Amino acid sequence: MSHEGIRIVSAERARREDAEHEEMPTSSVSPKKVRVKKTDGTGVEIEWHDGHKSVWNFVWLRNACPCATCHEDREKTGRLPGEARAKDQTLLKMYEAPARPLEVTPVGKYALRFKWNDGHESGIYSWEYLRRVCRCDICMTKQKLEDGA
Ligand SMILES: [Zn+2]
Ligand SMILES: [Zn+2]
Repeated sequence: MSHEGIRIVSAERARREDAEHEEMPTSSVSPKKVRVKKTDGTGVEIEWHDGHKSVWNFVWLRNACPCATCHEDREKTGRLPGEARAKDQTLLKMYEAPARPLEVTPVGKYALRFKWNDGHESGIYSWEYLRRVCRCDICMTKQKLEDGA
């Protein structure tokens, strides 16, 4: 009967959605050490309580801004967090300074807020978000596998 099929599809979909929103162990999303290399202008390094280490450069982080506006903009242009707009790359070469933060402020115990040199400051980068967008080889391989690429 047709309702059988529907039930199976929904169950599969529910499982997939569960995996996407899977809660991470606290040790994976609590940083032991956070280094914001503002003076060097290089990026952010986080050592997590589970022993994992993540590194991002500032340009990548600017392009991964989790605020609603940037998120929508990425959805519209089909970019992943951290991916630059094709247009921006040309602009960057011509007259735009590469993204770097003017200020980095902790938000409670759960996030960092960046005030960027382009004036943008609405992104709240939670530890959990940062851990999900970790760029290390292990996580990149895992992300690729999950995307089926
Ligand atoms: Zn933003
Ligand atoms: Zn990683």
